[in-house]
Amino acid sequence: MTLNINPNKQAFLKGDIALVGAGPGDPDLLTLQAYRFINQADVAVYDRLVSDEIMALLPDGCEKIYVGKKQAVHKVPQERINEILVEQAQAGKRVVRLKGGDPFVFGRGGEEALHALAQGVACHIVPGMTAASSCAAYAGIPLTHRQVSRACTLITGHVQNDGSLDLPWTALQDKQQTIVFYMGVKTLKTIVEQLYLAGRDRHTPVALIQRGTTPQQKVVKGQLQDIVYLVEEHQIKPPTLIMIGDVVTTFDDHNIENLGYVTPASN
Ligand code: SAH
Repeated sequence: MTLNINPNKQAFLKGDIALVGAGPGDPDLLTLQAYRFINQADVAVYDRLVSDEIMALLPDGCEKIYVGKKQAVHKVPQERINEILVEQAQAGKRVVRLKGGDPFVFGRGGEEALHALAQGVACHIVPGMTAASSCAAYAGIPLTHRQVSRACTLITGHVQNDGSLDLPWTALQDKQQTIVFYMGVKTLKTIVEQLYLAGRDRHTPVALIQRGTTPQQKVVKGQLQDIVYLVEEHQIKPPTLIMIGDVVTTFDDHNIENLGYVTPASN
């Protein structure tokens, strides 16, 4: 079966699955390609991070199946999501799997595509704006910046099945490296402790970007030493992106027009 990785050149046929990146929330950040696929959907399988505005772009009569993961009891296991996608495709529908951000960045898109291909179902990959670049732009923080940051690591703060956070901490010690944690709010205390052990300074700037690019966007800035406290104080909850590194303060001396509010970095 075919993995269609240049969807502009491939027709979206009945019986196909398209893994479509819906971006971080602001419908303006949807690609034209994603829009074209969404327009042809017979059924959309979607999760929590896909915004209402983007759901509203689905054609009339398009079936909607929610497989959102709420962390708690009612989560649909990944294996079941894989099966739903294939069942819908085998029923002869054009299946759009709508995912927040990009399907291949902490989106389990690879697993869904592998399962589809193994079951003989063709799969299209439609990229989306990932949270790191979108939230960075909407918070006024460059991911890399000359002489400040020469590398950027996207990393997951989600714990393993055994509850541990097993990450390559020593690889994160370089001061001129921006670190972007996805799914890191719950484990932030451990992240901070481990970064200290790896040699990061307690004054390293940190930004928390909650529901970035949406009208509810909230940006809180601090430093490694007070960021755990700031999460409590500002009641920061997922979905939140955590950006760590000197790039965070790049535009602090300038006015930043913002959708939400920004708290100034602590000293
Ligand atoms: N595939 C998605 C990431 C899914 S993992 C992507 O490419 O963006 C889910 C995590 O992504 C959240 O816990 C959060 O850390 C981050 N995230 C996604 N959308 C976000 C948003 N609008 N604002 C802040 N963080 C977001």
